[in-house]
Amino acid sequence: MSFPLAPGATIGILGGGQLGRMLAMAAARIGFDVVILTPETNSPAARVAAGAIVAAYDDVTALDALADRCQVITCEFENVPARALAHLEQRGAMVAPDSKAFALAQDRLAEKTFLNEAGLPTVGFAQIDSEDELHAALARFGAPLLLKTRRGGYDGKGQVWVRSADDASPAFETIGRRPAIAETPADFVRECAVIAARARDGQTAFYPLTRSEHEAGILRRTLAPAEAAPATLAAAGEAARRLLEALGYVGVLGLELFERANGSLLVNEFAPRVHNTGHWTLDGCVVDQFEQHIRAVAGWPLGPTDAIARVEMLNLIGEDVGRWSEWVSDRSARLWLYGKAEARAGRKMGHVNLVSPLAS
Ligand code: AMP
Repeated sequence: MSFPLAPGATIGILGGGQLGRMLAMAAARIGFDVVILTPETNSPAARVAAGAIVAAYDDVTALDALADRCQVITCEFENVPARALAHLEQRGAMVAPDSKAFALAQDRLAEKTFLNEAGLPTVGFAQIDSEDELHAALARFGAPLLLKTRRGGYDGKGQVWVRSADDASPAFETIGRRPAIAETPADFVRECAVIAARARDGQTAFYPLTRSEHEAGILRRTLAPAEAAPATLAAAGEAARRLLEALGYVGVLGLELFERANGSLLVNEFAPRVHNTGHWTLDGCVVDQFEQHIRAVAGWPLGPTDAIARVEMLNLIGEDVGRWSEWVSDRSARLWLYGKAEARAGRKMGHVNLVSPLAS
């Protein structure tokens, strides 16, 4: 395969959610076709794509069919089995980001270990495979600790606070006695994120730091660009640059950060894909995170990442989406809906970008 891919090439995406939908829309705008592979029928992404294969992520026949149709394959879903990506790589498909990035991001213990080795600070943590190990971690770090399953957790799911030794047994029960890590509390004053990109030739680009507000573990609001001390902004960029280099990454990733009272940063986690904290770029930057990811995996040069507007991004979760008609009457609001039929509680149905001029 030779890069850069010319317009007219086909890009495969594993995953059929809203991230795949917005990737497919961005790809179409610059002349690429997208084929989605997802187990879901009538998925948000497949409805705007040139083609779709409905199959399990580890269906080897389906993966091979995708590889036959596509010049490069990427993911919009973080929990695609890393072995499915490894299968594609072994048969010679171009996969970006690669299976290693997914294997790391899917296991909180491997991820935090890797981050620390790459020089990115995190909270203290310990591997927990038994109640005894949880008691040992409490003795080592003190209470409270946040117990998280190593795999499969997202949006605050699979997590429980352990506030004392008496909590250890019920907490381990709550997470299903699964392999876990225990984390020390992050003493953060606010949560931030950076969207970072790396091209095939090693060029890197970083969007401005953003501020994230969560409710019940789900991102509710992003403010972009975030106000921060110059040293904090520099540290965020440096953390993202180190991570991209350590992974040998190609594509866009989201890096979630905790900012402490003294302005220093801890890394919470990274997502090897476009990220909810980057949705503001759709209306706040010339080249948004979705086009940026498509550019990177297609071997194109990265686009500019400067903010051209201030954006308040609000996630429309569950029944929030019912207010769409109010948002379309608001002249500062740009509405993005994901085409999901059922507005279940906690489900991300869309988002709205409230756009205002950058302060001069
Ligand atoms: P996660 O699923 O790891 O991204 O965690 C979801 C949310 O839980 C984060 O955005 C934080 O608000 C909170 N959180 C996660 N880890 C910690 C920690 N070690 N200390 C305090 N809060 C945390």
